[in-house]
Amino acid sequence: MSNAEVNKKVQPLIEVKNLKTYYPIKRGIISRTVGYVKAVDGVSFKIYPGETLGLVGESGCGKSSMGRTLIKLEHPNEGEIIFEGQDIAKYSNKEMLKLRSDIQIIFQDPYSSLNPRKRVSEILSEPLKVHNTVPADQISKEVDRLLASVDLQKNAKNRYPNEFSGGQRQRIGIARALALKPKFIICDEPVSALDVSTQAQVLNLLKGLQKEFNLTFLFIAHGLGAVKYVSDRIAVMYLGKIVEIGTTDEIVNNPQHPYTKALLSAYPVPNPHLRGKKRVILEGDVPSPANPPSGCRFHTRCPYAKDICSKEEPELKDGDHAVACHLV
Ligand code: SF4
Repeated sequence: MSNAEVNKKVQPLIEVKNLKTYYPIKRGIISRTVGYVKAVDGVSFKIYPGETLGLVGESGCGKSSMGRTLIKLEHPNEGEIIFEGQDIAKYSNKEMLKLRSDIQIIFQDPYSSLNPRKRVSEILSEPLKVHNTVPADQISKEVDRLLASVDLQKNAKNRYPNEFSGGQRQRIGIARALALKPKFIICDEPVSALDVSTQAQVLNLLKGLQKEFNLTFLFIAHGLGAVKYVSDRIAVMYLGKIVEIGTTDEIVNNPQHPYTKALLSAYPVPNPHLRGKKRVILEGDVPSPANPPSGCRFHTRCPYAKDICSKEEPELKDGDHAVACHLV
């Protein structure tokens, strides 16, 4: 039985219901709001304890806004974020501070996400001091333990971020995320800025840490390669909405939505299950999320679009493998 199947028997660690995150578009001297970029526009999903949900889609589809909203770096306009039974969507910054030890984020860019003026020891000890989780005389030992957990030497703590390679910096970012012993980590494109061999090492590290500390991940990426490797289930996002969600096996070997098929077509490793199947080539750019197409948002690029597609929005029904498409 897969992790996803086992976990369905328990309550989700996090459940998102109809979440919307809009950014106002301002114009003129008085900054009048003339519209909204609908980055996340009515998204719902669950993540079970100990599993990884992969979230994929092209740049600008809203997946990073989704991740940032879950940790309240962005404030949602509507919807619920149920974490361990509590709706945290409307929590104030002060209330969220208490949750910081449970929910953490690993950022995409290991170059800009670490303060270049601080030694690694300061970067890793800061959250321990702010949240007062470790007695002062134990902090140095705890920093050593964090470095060991991401396979870095003890002497790394005396150095500055610019003295490390990209992969090592991302390990420091991961160690910082682990410092407060979180339950849930949002991995926002954590390997996109790394070279291919380093990507594999960091992905293996994340998988190992997940097992060791029973972590739950939302793993965000624009390509299916890394997502397929680490995820129990995958959600595919297009222009602020989830268009397909299912187990990794179902999404990779039995994709139903034309957009998912197109993403898989672009994936360079040959997939024996898709061999011989027609490639879906996407034309044009992703439309503006400030003015999304009517009906199915994908209809302007979908090779199978029918009349109904521009008129009625297809529903993503609840289910193990859910697809938002009129033809499925
Ligand atoms: Fe394509 Fe229509 Fe399905 Fe949208 S609903 S993905 S436009 S076939």
